[in-house]
Amino acid sequence: MELRKINENCYYFSSAVNAGYILNEGEGMLIDTGIDDSSIKKMLKILLQENLPLDYCIITHAHTDHFGGASYLKKKGIKLFAPVFEKAIMENPLLEPVYLWNGAFPLKELRNKFLEGKPVEIDEWFSPGEMKVGAFKLEALHLPGHSIGQAGIVYNDILFAADSYFGQEALEKHIVPFITDAQRTIETLERIMSLSVEGAVPGHGELERDITATIEANISLHNKLLGQIIDIAGNSKRDFDCMLKEFLDLNGIDAGSLGQYLLYRTSFTAYLTKLVSDGILKVTLEKNKIYISK
Ligand SMILES: [Zn+2]
Repeated sequence: MELRKINENCYYFSSAVNAGYILNEGEGMLIDTGIDDSSIKKMLKILLQENLPLDYCIITHAHTDHFGGASYLKKKGIKLFAPVFEKAIMENPLLEPVYLWNGAFPLKELRNKFLEGKPVEIDEWFSPGEMKVGAFKLEALHLPGHSIGQAGIVYNDILFAADSYFGQEALEKHIVPFITDAQRTIETLERIMSLSVEGAVPGHGELERDITATIEANISLHNKLLGQIIDIAGNSKRDFDCMLKEFLDLNGIDAGSLGQYLLYRTSFTAYLTKLVSDGILKVTLEKNKIYISK
């Protein structure tokens, strides 16, 4: 993990999961916390070494790799902020394995640190728009798609984009990125591309001064995956689970664990929902089986 300076007031901790850090008038604010106590401790150690203050933390969304260190910060007296929908999940993180397991109480193997972070009470929730916290005046953006209530932060001309887009390397690694809503994911990407900022930091990837090519790569990947699902549906009635298997196989994915498979299933379902809303595919239930057809 390395702290990189972007401009006078903006920094980020470059790591497998990035976190932002902003500074103004002797006050400091983190944007996300990394996955666990060990990642947040590393950040705190670096801030101490660099003699940088910490007073607040904004959490962009309720995925454990972004809020897992929040309960440690809370114990240290740092004030926590989050979008209202994401706040509800961080305070009740059992919800994530619950929704992956179709709403039922989850299997033990789904209750791991990647799917269920430590519960943490968020001090204040925020809505999109201008936000004043101590010495900071920032702009909170609503960037839904990857998660339902995800926020991005613009401060001093830098966009802290959370997982609204992935760096090109991360995009290639994930193959099928995690999304909850394909339509909103694409709308969010188009919106980010139209922002006039001096640079952007995604949750996974590096700072880029011009994000156009990266955003275009994200949009074209989503369009490619949507096209694949239309092709797999073909002209006959297809079984949902068989289609999902064919989709993963086509992309060379072996989920390897139930948790990972369920995350892919959520993305597949999100693409399918868009195709149904667009009138391209239909979902029907026949004799206790879900079918997909044109
Ligand atoms: Zn995420």
